[in-house]
Amino acid sequence: MVPFPAAALIVAAGRGLRVGGPVPKQYRMIAGRSVLAHAVAHLGKASEIGRIMIVIQPDDAEDCRIAVEASSIAASRVSIAAGGETRQASVLAGLEALAAEGVPPEAIVLVHDAARPFLSETVILRALIAGGRHGAAIPVLPVTDTLGIVDDGGTLVGTHDRASARIVQTPQAFRFDLVLEAHRRAAAEGRGDFTDDAGVADAYGHAVGTFEGDPALFKITLESDVARAERFLTELSLTEGAVPYETRTGMGYDVHAFTDGDHVWLGGVAIPHERALLGHSDADPVLHALTDALLGTIGDGDIGMHFPPSDEKWRGAASHLFLEDAARRVRERGGRIISVDCTIVCEAPKIGPHRAAIQARIRGILGLKADRVGVKATTSERLGFTGRREGIAAIAVASVAF
Ligand code: MG
Repeated sequence: MVPFPAAALIVAAGRGLRVGGPVPKQYRMIAGRSVLAHAVAHLGKASEIGRIMIVIQPDDAEDCRIAVEASSIAASRVSIAAGGETRQASVLAGLEALAAEGVPPEAIVLVHDAARPFLSETVILRALIAGGRHGAAIPVLPVTDTLGIVDDGGTLVGTHDRASARIVQTPQAFRFDLVLEAHRRAAAEGRGDFTDDAGVADAYGHAVGTFEGDPALFKITLESDVARAERFLTELSLTEGAVPYETRTGMGYDVHAFTDGDHVWLGGVAIPHERALLGHSDADPVLHALTDALLGTIGDGDIGMHFPPSDEKWRGAASHLFLEDAARRVRERGGRIISVDCTIVCEAPKIGPHRAAIQARIRGILGLKADRVGVKATTSERLGFTGRREGIAAIAVASVAF
């Protein structure tokens, strides 16, 4: 078991005074959910990330709970820790909480500012790869404007060298033991002057690598940034890897051969027939195809991978267990099932009389309304194995919104 492939630590304990207004910036609403909820949703969508630790002010517990709920990420993947006086103290508190949960030393931890709501899958992947390669790595962007230096009176007294300057963003990626150790030493030595975690790692002797950042990672700092974020969501075209919300389609196909018996399982319903279907479980090709369709929307293997026929545990198992498990996996990735559709291919039994029962059963398993569950049947005109009445095939498609 690899319970912690990677972890994310979201720093949401700041008071966000610069945006103004009574609400800290991480709880400002953008397109119907808080800035924090957007960040949680994006990090939670990454299948490489197991745990998500959010560091907050204890007073904000209710706002944080609402944000996690709005993110659609399973609450079981998310933990909350109380932050400290400074950002640095809050990060240490979050790291200690991850340590208490048993995150292993070699895991990569992404430390991310809650005020940067838009992380693409591409950025998360870059961070994990760079973190694994360097032990400590940060996303950077080149500086395109001239950097002026002014005196107290606002008069230009010089310029910085732009060529070596970089804009530093988050998520910053670290090997867990490295960043925890550096933060512990900084705290023990009473050093509280670091503005980010790369600074802490650097101060304790770790070379910090860089990887390409993303303009979409901009930080909500000023009131105008809230409007910019709203515009960003509205205007965002279907740029690969930068799609904040999307619909995915998965497909599944399954076949079971006839054997001796007096009923077949189709769509979770036992249908009287002169034959039965042969299989390790209850051999329900409809629920198996639907299970694969759902797994397909999250790229999470297939039914045989999660429930191997070699495992005695699944002998004779009712197939709704498989479909329920796939639906759980989809929801844990922040997915919402929009609709499923299936076609049963057989000469017999006749499906028509059982269609409503099958539809109701699938609706019940997935918690969907009737107009979101399609159940169809066809013969194959006596052609092929289904035509020769050697077995039953089922095809399924699932649409899931993320
Ligand atoms: Mg099967």
